Amino acid sequence: MAKIGEGQSYRLVIIGGGPAGYTAALYAARAGLQPLLLEGNEPGGQLMQTTTVENFPGFPEGVQGPELMQRWREQAERFGAEIRAEDATRIDLSQRPFRIEAGVSAISADTVILAMGASARRLGLESEKRLTGHGVSTCATCDGFFFRGKKVAVVGGGDSACEEALYLAKLAESVTMIHRRNELRASRIMQERVQGEPKINIVWNAVVEEILDVAAGKVTGVTLRDTVTGERRELAIDGLFVAIGHIPNTALVKEQIDLDEHGYIRVKGTGPGATATRVAGVFAAGDVQDPFYRQAVTAAASGCQAAMDVERFLEGSAFHDWGLAGTASATATPGTPAGAGK
Ligand code: NAP
Repeated sequence: MAKIGEGQSYRLVIIGGGPAGYTAALYAARAGLQPLLLEGNEPGGQLMQTTTVENFPGFPEGVQGPELMQRWREQAERFGAEIRAEDATRIDLSQRPFRIEAGVSAISADTVILAMGASARRLGLESEKRLTGHGVSTCATCDGFFFRGKKVAVVGGGDSACEEALYLAKLAESVTMIHRRNELRASRIMQERVQGEPKINIVWNAVVEEILDVAAGKVTGVTLRDTVTGERRELAIDGLFVAIGHIPNTALVKEQIDLDEHGYIRVKGTGPGATATRVAGVFAAGDVQDPFYRQAVTAAASGCQAAMDVERFLEGSAFHDWGLAGTASATATPGTPAGAGK
């Protein structure tokens, strides 16, 4: 595939090839913005690691995650989005047009949509890698349905783990929470809910050392190690949900933009310009700015919002009015500064 042209300027560059990025590209392309999407070397986002997606609207029979992403990509390309399988390696948001380096090329952009997603934190086991999508999951809302009437376990002791366990308790026969310490990190209310749910039992001071059974190609149990006594034992389960936190992929912009205490990009959140960041002309969509919903459909929705926000921004709408020093109100044309700056 041809490389991006050195020095080329775009009205919009979208960074990240997941549901938010592809949807933003689709909408922006249809609006005639001729966006460039840098989808990275491993495009597709978190859905590439799932098997059947059953909760994406419009697919009553379900759809394979990679197939859904491929179709999404094709849809964006059909309307003229330029999509490159390259990682952005440097992003300079200090002045407009913004400067983005990808591989050997440097390009400029009047506006940017950051849609780099978040990565679920993993245990780091080889068996976890091999069985992901085959009984190991990081999303109960996505995969819990496959474990109706079965025995599952959730690793973690934070709000996410409690939320996953409570969700799974509605479907599964039993839910075992596996936590490495003897007290939960989760908020009091979540702890109370978990403790009040008879289907959930908690194994304290335990870590998962191995997930069984890679040879069988499915989850049949886990080997647990007691962090106090060192004793090992097996727990028979049909599914394992790893809920030990997420890491938003914000390393490239972290010193240039407002992040919350967990590293998620802060956006305006409501009304016109909902996806606007504090840097005028820079928008964020999907899991990179959403620690709460984290669904393909919500990421897609915010990708759509971001593209529409960009369109209005380039037309001169001033909606960066949530405490920004200076507002963005100038109409941008390719390769020229789009207003007063941050
Ligand atoms: P978190 O608060 O960082 O909790 C992560 C949990 O995983 C901790 O209990 C931690 O153990 C455990 N853990 C981390 N690495 C591990 C490893 N390698 N092996 C085993 N266990 C490990 O993450 P989170 O639960 O995703 O929550 C993130 C933020 O979102 C929090 O501020 C949370 O309040 C918020 N949130 C809120 C809600 C809600 O209000 N409904 C829902 C979800 C998330 P330790 O406790 O020992 O460190």
